Amino acid sequence: MQVISCLKQVPDTTQVQIDPVTNTLVRDGIPFIMNPYDTHALEESLRLRDDYGVRAVALSMGPPNAEATLRKACALGVDDAILLSDRCFGGADTLATSMVLSAAIKRLSMLDELAIVFCGKQTIDGDTAQVGPGIASRLGLHQLTLVDRIELLDLERKKIRVRRKLEGRYEIVEAPLPVMITVVREINQPRYPTVPLRLAAEDVEVKVWDNSVLQLDVETIGLKGSPTWVSKIFSPERDQGEIIGDGLSDPEGTAQLLLDKLLSKDLLAV
Ligand SMILES: Cc1cc2nc3c(=O)[nH]c(=O)nc-3n(C[C@H](O)[C@H](O)[C@H](O)COP(=O)(O)OP(=O)(O)OC[C@H]3O[C@@H](n4cnc5c(N)ncnc54)[C@H](O)[C@@H]3O)c2cc1C
Repeated sequence: MQVISCLKQVPDTTQVQIDPVTNTLVRDGIPFIMNPYDTHALEESLRLRDDYGVRAVALSMGPPNAEATLRKACALGVDDAILLSDRCFGGADTLATSMVLSAAIKRLSMLDELAIVFCGKQTIDGDTAQVGPGIASRLGLHQLTLVDRIELLDLERKKIRVRRKLEGRYEIVEAPLPVMITVVREINQPRYPTVPLRLAAEDVEVKVWDNSVLQLDVETIGLKGSPTWVSKIFSPERDQGEIIGDGLSDPEGTAQLLLDKLLSKDLLAV
């Protein structure tokens, strides 16, 4: 049985731009990292490998330099790492991204039985939290989002019980395998690569699958297959708000002014 973690390579900065001509992210000169939530998705897959002996596979869709993110997963001990990379995958929105990832997961499931697909709660660049549920709906998997604890995993009876971290409360959910799980940071503390594994990872083969392997209709992937185009990214102007006093030189006066303002706006019940 196998567990698959979907890992996205993201810019290690908020200063990202969209190329107005190609409508894709400007990547030159930008440092990249593994999406922070995905480090927890990867860690959870490695823990199940350690505890249940399942195979841990890491999957990423991205340009050739996304291999670096998968090599980090190799240094942590995954059994297999596959980069889905092809020009025709470029510029994908969440719909097109989940199309490519689902096709690869389907292909892997023909080779070994699938138990769990792990995704991060969301990425720090697109930030939509849509890809995990997109994969689940394309593959007909039960989706368990915002998971902060796996309470029970029964591979024989093919069922799982998890705890979901919701706003101000928790929810315990049980579902038959296979499932898609999106994880929150609280689920675990990612391990550090050991020196032997890190050295070994330098020679490990990261497989690269392009569209000649996945055989997808090019109209359904990449920019062509994306109904959503990101035309521009910008930081909204910050509303400076009204300056009502200099709290440092005259704290009491400023406090009085603030009180008057609040009272005049009936924002304080007296
Ligand atoms: C600033 C910005 C805004 C964007 N806004 C939108 C938008 O509104 N709608 C839209 O459809 N697209 C949008 N995109 C494009 C979108 O980022 C890409 O489609 C991306 O591949 C997936 O969406 P996401 O980053 O929101 O991922 P999310 O849905 O937030 O990712 C959730 C999880 O899915 C997995 N995952 C996501 N992408 C990959 C990958 N390439 N490889 C492996 N695993 C992956 C990871 O486990 C990740 O934690 C935006 C991109 C940027 C940079």
